[in-house]
Amino acid sequence: MTFDYDLFVIGGGSGGVRAARVAAGEHGAKVALAEEYRMGGTCVIRGCVPKKLMVFASGYSRMGADAREYGWEFGDATFSWDRFRLKLRAELDRLEGAYRRTLSNAGVEVFDSRATVAGPHEVRLADGTIKSAKHILIATGGSPFVPETLDGHELAWVSNDIFLMEALPKSVLIVGGGYIACEFACILNGLGVEVTQFYRGAQILRGFDGESRGHLAELIRDSGVDLHVGADVVKMKQGDDGIQVTSTTGHDQSYDRVIYATGRNPNTDDLGLEEVGVTLGRRGQIEVDAYSQTSVPSIFAVGDVTDRINLTPVAIREGHAFADTMFGGQKRKADHDLVPAAIFTQPEYGSVGLTEEDAREEYKIEVYCTSFRPMQEAFAGREGKVLLKLIIDAGTRRVLGCHIIAPNAGELIQLAGIAVKNGLTKEDFDRTVAVHPTVSEELVTMAQPVRTA
Ligand code: NDP
Repeated sequence: MTFDYDLFVIGGGSGGVRAARVAAGEHGAKVALAEEYRMGGTCVIRGCVPKKLMVFASGYSRMGADAREYGWEFGDATFSWDRFRLKLRAELDRLEGAYRRTLSNAGVEVFDSRATVAGPHEVRLADGTIKSAKHILIATGGSPFVPETLDGHELAWVSNDIFLMEALPKSVLIVGGGYIACEFACILNGLGVEVTQFYRGAQILRGFDGESRGHLAELIRDSGVDLHVGADVVKMKQGDDGIQVTSTTGHDQSYDRVIYATGRNPNTDDLGLEEVGVTLGRRGQIEVDAYSQTSVPSIFAVGDVTDRINLTPVAIREGHAFADTMFGGQKRKADHDLVPAAIFTQPEYGSVGLTEEDAREEYKIEVYCTSFRPMQEAFAGREGKVLLKLIIDAGTRRVLGCHIIAPNAGELIQLAGIAVKNGLTKEDFDRTVAVHPTVSEELVTMAQPVRTA
């Protein structure tokens, strides 16, 4: 059989672009890619990149006050969302252009169109054109959603709306206690918005280390976010003074905006997948094996649409491994073990490996933990404490988990992740001479465990 392409990729996000670029540019495959919105996907257009730029923007609100404590004098500082927004838009345009250039330089044919699966080897573009391919890769990502059973759900915003907003609201309610809810609570608070956050459970960031979650929740509250746990929305309606929210806790109030950050659904609706026999999971995610192959042998899927570990660098690795396996003659699977991650709250929370709770289930452990006011912030009169925590397997002495809550913890955990990923022990950490004075030196100087279990 002959096909129009060796590979047709649906979705121009991190995973799809990497797979297309490597398959065509490095392995010489004939590749096409279809994207219905903007090239770059969630990460570049409405996720990691604009979010991180907003984190930077909001961080400056504290820096002015801190700099004064260090002897600097400024006039009154004000923030212009308009000015920031224009610059942000230009930066995203630049990055989208770079993604497009990457694809064209690699020889990938790009269709600015929605595409759906029409058969095991066929893709239908929005204008009805059918393209054939030996392999199809689904990399359509995920989307935020508002629970539709909620009375007044149509009034709620999701994270996508924040990037497009014309003006900063005066007050917001953020619903959810995961990555996106916590990050935007801190960002908007830093930009001067009055932020209330509702989380339905007992503590934010379910699945992360318990002690770290508690520490971060306190810091988020201290920074000015009105964080309520065990709280949820019963209903919402538009009132004269904003969106009137009735809550499960009686904390009823009106807000300019209500933002739902209650998770993301895989983008598999109306893609034609089930019709050709691709198995979907309970949440609509595409079920794949370790090589990202679906139940239809010619169809593969990578990234958030498979709902494995929903992080950009993981999607990139999955796309790269797929391209190397199918077109590069190297059978490779993406490694999903010990993936470091950071939540860009203020301060940030970086983690790699096991939580204390999970480690206790499997190992006899020692826990090393320290919390203190970092030099730079203490001098500026701030009370917030950093937290550094190592969880050690008492038998092998291997570091099972590392958790850091501190300014720039995302940067720190990237490096700590190398040590944890490579199985280093507590003694390996301790053999490394401290860099003084730094926050992270405590990772190599903690002498006594605070707990054993
Ligand atoms: P998460 O799954 O992380 O969090 C969803 C939150 O919403 C949880 O607190 C959950 O509560 C709560 N929730 C779910 N359903 C409801 C409901 N019906 N009513 C009220 N609350 C509800 O999703 P996010 O949207 O925050 O992020 C999606 C994914 O994107 C992340 O898991 C992560 O993989 C990725 N991401 C990564 C970032 C990074 O690397 N820095 C940044 C942003 C996103 P409960 O805990 O009780 O289930």
